[in-house]
Amino acid sequence: MAKIRIATCSLAGCFGCHMSFLDIDERIAELAELVDFDRSPLTDIKEVDAAGIDIGLVEGGVCNAENVHTLREFRSRCRILVAVGACALSGGVPALRNRIPLEECFAEAYLQGPGIEAPQVPDDPELPLLLDRVYPLHEVVRIDHVLPGCPPPADAFWELLTALLAGREPELAYPLRRFD
Ligand code: SF4
Repeated sequence: MAKIRIATCSLAGCFGCHMSFLDIDERIAELAELVDFDRSPLTDIKEVDAAGIDIGLVEGGVCNAENVHTLREFRSRCRILVAVGACALSGGVPALRNRIPLEECFAEAYLQGPGIEAPQVPDDPELPLLLDRVYPLHEVVRIDHVLPGCPPPADAFWELLTALLAGREPELAYPLRRFD
């Protein structure tokens, strides 16, 4: 039987959701029997298979142009797309910058902050442009499932994946539905 294929990525995230996923500990061996990992920080694959895969897990909100590109790639190539963690659901802590004009953020980071020498806002065209604010995933693409929490508990990842692998709806018991 062909294995289920999973891709993961971190947009404007901190990789903490990926770490919590790895907190399923030895169950990762059980998972490895059932799934293959496609594009992910855990693999060296650079793009989601253009032929399409089964499940995409996305941590982090959308803060720059590259995030938009990656999220659209995941949406177009993953049959089921999951928003993982507070950042993906609502923008999370990075969205605190939404209250501050972008120019002020740049000035504080690159022009006036402590210890800055040769102040200059980076403008190399290779760098992705920041968006006007940090967006949750659902404001950019359609999302099929959500895992709340900062980060979601490892058992929530386990329930989500084992349910999807079994073809049933995930049921997050109350302790697995946290928002902190
Ligand atoms: S939800 Fe929390 S743990 Fe996950 S990427 Fe955002 S800040 Fe990190």
